[in-house]
Amino acid sequence: MRYPEHIERLMQIFRKLPGVGAKSAERFCFELLQWSEAKIHEFTSLIEDLPKKISACPSCGALFQEGICNFCNGNERNTEQICLVATPKDLFLIEATGQFKGLYHVLGGLLSPFSGKHALNLEPLLKRIKDLNITELIIAFDGTLEGDASAFYIKEYFKGSSLQISRLAFGMPAGSLLEFAGEGSLAQSMAHRREL
Ligand SMILES: [Zn+2]
Repeated sequence: MRYPEHIERLMQIFRKLPGVGAKSAERFCFELLQWSEAKIHEFTSLIEDLPKKISACPSCGALFQEGICNFCNGNERNTEQICLVATPKDLFLIEATGQFKGLYHVLGGLLSPFSGKHALNLEPLLKRIKDLNITELIIAFDGTLEGDASAFYIKEYFKGSSLQISRLAFGMPAGSLLEFAGEGSLAQSMAHRREL
């Protein structure tokens, strides 16, 4: 053990965060040692309150803080379209483009042939589509194997229905992730979405 146990343990926690390796974890710990007690307190209470303050909408899966989901209850939303995303984070990426004013649905995960996920639970989505008389489903998945397989699965699932299904048209090579697309190119993808 190179550092006192407490620092080592904190470093292990930091390393669980995406993109954080040993060097960054070390830097974070030593940076925190320089912080005032008040700043440390603000930091720790923000983390502690995260699960209490932030909820997932039981209907669409979007994250919100207190009150009601703005996406499901916003007056200015187009209630004939649903944009289907894999994660709540992807929802915010699409929303940031300002190109989409419809409703959202968070799927919670994609098919993953390699890790054994071979089916998607589309019942809640189907129920919303029926209840809300949705006419267009826009699939906003990553341009990866998982994204492609899931989009195909969904297309098959809704085969024969009058639902119009389209997918974001990535102007990028296969394997592209939504989070690295950038607002401009995501906005383009939404505008030029293609029918599946
Ligand atoms: Zn909602």
